[in-house]
Amino acid sequence: MRRGLPPTLVAVLFLVAACAPLLLAIASGEPPEAVQAELGIGLGLAALGLMLLQFAHSGRLETLSGRIGIDRTMRVHRSAGIALAAMVLLHPLAFVAPPLLTNPELALRGLMGMLRAERMQSGVIALVLLLVVVAASLARGRIGFAYQRWRALHAALGLAAAAFAVDHALGVGLYSEAAPLRAVWLGGLALAAFALVWTWAIKPIRDARAGWRVAAVAPIGPDYWEVVLDRPSRTPLPFAAGQFAWLAFGRRAPWDDNPFSIASVPGDPRLAFIIREAGDLTRRIGSLPLGSAVRVDAPHGAFVLDPGERRSVLLVAGGAGIAPILSLWRDLAARPAAGAVRLVYGAWTAERLLYRDELARTAAERGFGLFLRVDEGPLCAGATRGILDAAILREALAGLDPKATVAMVCGPTPMMLAVAATLERLGMPPGAIRYERFDYD
Ligand SMILES: Cc1cc2nc3c(=O)[nH]c(=O)nc-3n(C[C@H](O)[C@H](O)[C@H](O)COP(=O)(O)OP(=O)(O)OC[C@H]3O[C@@H](n4cnc5c(N)ncnc54)[C@H](O)[C@@H]3O)c2cc1C
Repeated sequence: MRRGLPPTLVAVLFLVAACAPLLLAIASGEPPEAVQAELGIGLGLAALGLMLLQFAHSGRLETLSGRIGIDRTMRVHRSAGIALAAMVLLHPLAFVAPPLLTNPELALRGLMGMLRAERMQSGVIALVLLLVVVAASLARGRIGFAYQRWRALHAALGLAAAAFAVDHALGVGLYSEAAPLRAVWLGGLALAAFALVWTWAIKPIRDARAGWRVAAVAPIGPDYWEVVLDRPSRTPLPFAAGQFAWLAFGRRAPWDDNPFSIASVPGDPRLAFIIREAGDLTRRIGSLPLGSAVRVDAPHGAFVLDPGERRSVLLVAGGAGIAPILSLWRDLAARPAAGAVRLVYGAWTAERLLYRDELARTAAERGFGLFLRVDEGPLCAGATRGILDAAILREALAGLDPKATVAMVCGPTPMMLAVAATLERLGMPPGAIRYERFDYD
């Protein structure tokens, strides 16, 4: 079940919203200031518009990002964050631009005087907060900042920065005195705050009421667990094969949830997940008490086949990437008339090739192609040695028209990049290669 606006419409809405403050300033009829002041004001207006829009493409609002996919949405969020930080830095510099080249000392004195002025206080606070938010995001992995703590801080500081920036615009902004732009800033700030309240207060309460519980937890390979969720109503969760859920096990803060692809098939009243031990939460997954509550926010994601897909399907999985691929495989197997289906699945060792019996059984029953690869250690039945290279992908595509095939790829990012490049070389159109990333930072 894919929700959300068409990607082109989202892109158009984004562009219109990003340009609206500048267009309103131009239309205000105010006489133009000196060039450097106009440049500074323009940078400030554009940066504040982008800052408020950041709350809309946080990846949690399915109406906006449902069809775009979380990794693409997060890439835009990240690039926009860096761009707006640069604009915010240039915003005060533009006002002192002319003497900056001829008399840097004078320019610096002018800049310091401007920043120290009492009426500029909220602007300076917004600038500092924004730089902290962007720097912490860029350095998070390197400084070992726990993901969930960083995420809560990111949102809180981001909203505080936006509030101070709006206060700055309303307090000293020339064009922001006009009613339309005031309305944009105040309305935008209210919507930004609402997006956070919706995601981390209203929705978690609603999701917790759905009554999902841990029904089973079992080891399925070294570092791998299968977690099955159930709920008393036994009502299947509507989702499309390949989508994922945000899960919060036990009593967790509203912002403390993790994304996991659904491995079970749509229509099944139970939800199954394949979880690889990666960090704080996933290393403790084996000790989840049976019957404990789980908050489920789903479905999310755009890693799905088109409804009524007629083309041949090539599924490619590496490691934990088997989770959404298994859901797709099971879904295709449940369809009375699926076209050609081939699965290429690689793992580090044979014990990490999960669900081998089920995959082999379905392949035999439905005539699906199954190509298994193992990197190291002893081989298992049906597997060959090596990575997911051109040889195995060519073998999997044998007899299929690459132009009439869609590929669904999930696994470690370097593997996905290599597989996508190889599939293109083998004649598949880039638009027919879809992938799901498990890391987007
Ligand atoms: C769309 C999607 C689907 C995924 N599906 C699966 C799956 O089916 N099976 C599986 O084993 N793993 C999956 N993952 C990866 C899984 O979410 C992380 O391994 C898990 O959240 C790590 O949590 P942790 O507390 O154990 O590790 P931590 O030590 O907290 O984090 C380890 C790394 O995991 C990532 N991470 C942690 N928390 C989050 C979060 N809330 N949002 C995004 N990234 C986070 C960060 O890159 C972090 O550096 C998926 C990720 C995404 C984005």
